[in-house]
Amino acid sequence: MSVNQQAHTGPPYGQPQPGYPGFQQPAYGAQTLPAVPQSQYGAYNGPVPGYQQPVPPQGSLRAPPTSGAPPPASGASHPSGHLAYSQFEHGDVQNGIPASAAPMQRPPASQPFLPGSAPTPVSQISTFQQYGPPPASVQQLRNHMAGMTIGSTAASAPPPAGLGYVSGSFSATGSGLHTPYSASQGPPAAGVSEALPLAQPPFPGHTVSTQRLPAQAPGFTPPPPSAGVGPSSYPPSTAAPRPPAMAGPALPGQTVAGPPSSQPNHVSSPPPPPPPSTMAGLHPGPPISGLHGPPPPTHPPQPGYQMQQNGSFGQMRGPQPNYGGAYPGPPNYGSPPGPPPPPKRLDPDSIPSPIQVIEDDRNNRGSEPFVTGVRGQVPPLVTTNFLVKDQGNASPRYIRCTSYNIPCTSDMAKQSQVPLAAVIKPLAALPPEEALPYLVDHGESGPVRCNRCKAYMCPFMQFIEGGRRFQCCFCSCVTEVPPHYFQHLDHTGKRVDFYDRPELSLGSYEFLATVDYCKNNKFPSPPAFIFMIDVSYNAVKSGLVRLICEELKSLLDYLPREGNMEESAIRVGFVTYNKVLHFYNVKSSLAQPQMMVVSDVADMFVPLLDGFLVNVSESRTVIASLLDQIPEMFADTRETETVFAPVIQAGLEALKAAECAGKLFIFHTSLPIAEAPGKLKNRDDRKLINTDKEKTLFQPQTSFYNNLAKDCVAQGCCVDLFLFPNQYLDVATLGVVPYQTGGSIYKYAYFQLETDQYRFLNDLRRDVQKEVGFDAVMRVRTSTGIRATDFFGAFYMSNTTDVEMAGLDCDKTITVEFKHDDKLSEDSGALLQCALLYTSCAGQRRLRIHNLSLNCCTQLADLYRNCETDTLINYLAKYAYRGVLSSPVKTVRDSLINQCAQILACYRKNCASPSSAGQLILPECMKLLPVYLNCVLKSDVLQPGPEVTTDDRAYIRQLVTSMDVAETNVFFYPRLLPLTKADVDSDSLPAAIRNSEERLSKGDIYLLENGLNIFVWVGVSVQQGLIQNLFGVSSFSQISNALSTLPVLENPFSKKVRSIVDMLQGQRSRYMKLIVVKQEDKLEMLFRHFLVEDKSLSGGASYVDFLCHMHKEIRQLLS
Ligand SMILES: [Zn+2]
Repeated sequence: MSVNQQAHTGPPYGQPQPGYPGFQQPAYGAQTLPAVPQSQYGAYNGPVPGYQQPVPPQGSLRAPPTSGAPPPASGASHPSGHLAYSQFEHGDVQNGIPASAAPMQRPPASQPFLPGSAPTPVSQISTFQQYGPPPASVQQLRNHMAGMTIGSTAASAPPPAGLGYVSGSFSATGSGLHTPYSASQGPPAAGVSEALPLAQPPFPGHTVSTQRLPAQAPGFTPPPPSAGVGPSSYPPSTAAPRPPAMAGPALPGQTVAGPPSSQPNHVSSPPPPPPPSTMAGLHPGPPISGLHGPPPPTHPPQPGYQMQQNGSFGQMRGPQPNYGGAYPGPPNYGSPPGPPPPPKRLDPDSIPSPIQVIEDDRNNRGSEPFVTGVRGQVPPLVTTNFLVKDQGNASPRYIRCTSYNIPCTSDMAKQSQVPLAAVIKPLAALPPEEALPYLVDHGESGPVRCNRCKAYMCPFMQFIEGGRRFQCCFCSCVTEVPPHYFQHLDHTGKRVDFYDRPELSLGSYEFLATVDYCKNNKFPSPPAFIFMIDVSYNAVKSGLVRLICEELKSLLDYLPREGNMEESAIRVGFVTYNKVLHFYNVKSSLAQPQMMVVSDVADMFVPLLDGFLVNVSESRTVIASLLDQIPEMFADTRETETVFAPVIQAGLEALKAAECAGKLFIFHTSLPIAEAPGKLKNRDDRKLINTDKEKTLFQPQTSFYNNLAKDCVAQGCCVDLFLFPNQYLDVATLGVVPYQTGGSIYKYAYFQLETDQYRFLNDLRRDVQKEVGFDAVMRVRTSTGIRATDFFGAFYMSNTTDVEMAGLDCDKTITVEFKHDDKLSEDSGALLQCALLYTSCAGQRRLRIHNLSLNCCTQLADLYRNCETDTLINYLAKYAYRGVLSSPVKTVRDSLINQCAQILACYRKNCASPSSAGQLILPECMKLLPVYLNCVLKSDVLQPGPEVTTDDRAYIRQLVTSMDVAETNVFFYPRLLPLTKADVDSDSLPAAIRNSEERLSKGDIYLLENGLNIFVWVGVSVQQGLIQNLFGVSSFSQISNALSTLPVLENPFSKKVRSIVDMLQGQRSRYMKLIVVKQEDKLEMLFRHFLVEDKSLSGGASYVDFLCHMHKEIRQLLS
């Protein structure tokens, strides 16, 4: 019997799966909704075997059973563990994903991988670049930063004595294995680093791209040579030239006074001047407890970075205008004061560039599909476009890890301080080219699971005893195969239906859940959407109420539905409110809608059951009439006060009465001060910033909403909140229920119809239409040795293992941290299985399963080579943003710095070559850790600028907690594109540049986006023709900075720029606010807040300064 036979035509997977939530309706309105999957599940006909199934590498061969009949479901029950099947050697068992170096040699499901195809292990391997052989010529680069100063370059700042990198204190030769650049090589011009001689690696194949800073303090004892780092395992490094630095003229620094006339998306009000926050007095305190974990991603070999010898050659840059140093020198660093060092700075071109790393990854990994058949593979970066082929591990679109090779012992993990975490997006939208998970039905008895740990059938389960039992890959328990699920094994020990069953051959799939998986042992009803509109004075006057009602008239035709269904199964209901609530009966038999008012908001109830939740198509006329009438009914309202908690309670009660899950869409404008449960007071106080009480600004002012959230989760009532504040409305408190129910918050400060409606409507359309699972519970199982210990995201937990979400949409991520509870083994690796139980938009109960296998290592070097910095930053930001709820912000910042210093110091001590102690050596895949970490430290939550309000900070804090890795990446390090360099004849984007003012040229126009805002920055010397083409005005001075969209003009440049904007909008889960900024205009202050490599107005360090600071921290740890 061959497993290579083509196409199985019979059930269970021979036919196309029933439509899955395919969202096949046309895109709504003029907007395309990029992230919403358009395709249905395709038929799962099993993979197309393109080549011979290889014989498993180990174990004896057994003939497949000769009988076609399932074995008797014999009684002999065996205890769990290995003891029960002594007649088989372990080697008999062949299943699961092979270990790292052995790519799974089988064709991908349904997707011919390599046409032609005899076994092609070699070429398969070749697609996994990080598994390449040890580099033959790794180049280790070094940099000497003699004479460098940390901290303020302002004349008035204290002299950074002791921090000066005096040339003489630096040993140029280091270990002797590195060739220093000699001064005689002359000062390289910017961008000529590739011409510099590269040092030899200390060990063959060792250290790729290291960054070194020179020692500064005499008397430093170099750390011991690295312990036990195998020389052969580093990826090769190639020296690719860096792109020439953009050397536009630096802009004159401007001090901007006065409040901005326009705020970025999350910024709601002009603030008082920021406290000059410094990061003085950094104490290398204990590591942040609980951070042991993941490492940064492995990137393909990067060209080494060379740091130039400051003082010897290289471009010297003057101090940045206006800003004081973030790391003022002496008192804080315990160094004796000395003469002020010359204002020299490390050349920014010589330190690791995010742009370069992103570019290199695109070039190296963007062309080949990422095939998931190999354990522990580090995926391409989130900024790289790539296709994924599921061959047994979940796609990185569903799960990304801080490291794909985790330490075998908890001691190693603690030593490295690398947090071990997975960022999981269970319902992630996929590009159209990738198949959605198949839906598997195991019949009335439900999905096949391990008897003991209840893990679901997956590719890593091992079938034994001729297929009659399987051994669990998570807990080793042996479970009988149910008779209906029996299948013979082939001579390799693999089930002959291996490729016909998604749960045996793919990393991600779904099971149809049985009634046992349903609340109260009852299949769920389809969910309901309830629209709850604030009709107080501000909401009416701003035109918001009319806008929402108009929009709903058409939007209701685009509710989510399962792929094949004619119409959505979701029922809808309507409530309006100010100090009282108005319920509407929109039953189809009525000629006109009926309103019922509940003015006793102290004990909320729903005054009508029949006719409140209705089917849209049945009640279309009545609903349309209601939506026409609402704006008129409240047109003359004088009511300014609102309630809030009773609104949620009303929605909750309505869902309870209807016995279904659902979502509340609440459109709210003000602090709920009216007399009612959950009433709030204005407790905003910016004076608390930088005090021990600052944390209270992030905490809810009452526990009332926590309890309400708990009730909502129990009912499957998810809350999405659209806020339109003109002043403080306590997002920290109002956000509790949306946050804990898995909902979303959108905030439109100072909402103005003309400029903001487009953005709001786009968000609303997408929010209403996107895929969402209701009444969801997620559990992450792990193989023996590690377990999930901590969780971050928008959810509720009533115990230590189950993440509960009233709703979970395709944009939400849950971050899970793991800790060791035993030793791991390099042979078996580590496994994760994420199981999400949820109700689909049609009311079907399902389980979505994602499996991922990771490598385990006994050498720290392997950990540091398989990390993903973007994911690490995602985790660290979430950890820090939770920390501000309980600790002073400064403590949180210091802990972050300390942990990252420990991570890098551990690498330096154990993995890098022995060399001059004064050199900063960064692991290749963590070389961006300092720059990204600095961005997190400077973010509005941890170091707010003057324009950032308390509500902004609470909003951002909650937003980031649910972000995926791509979102945090661009949020913390925005994308900056020179629009004037765009090729109008191509589809491509112009090459991004680094986020620094000195990269901007006043003759160019730039676009900066961070996932929430798009800035279009126009230099003062931009050619008149370009201005005419883009803005339709004849001069710079005529450009309006009130523009919220770019004018539609019929010329190539305008079309190109608008297509870029549209493309970026399409990539983000929220519609970004567009702000036009003219150079030297007052709005420029806002823009410069996002130039994250520069010093910030709020006291955040520049990248260069922070790198020096990190180096000092590391050196302290090493000594
Ligand atoms: Zn088990």
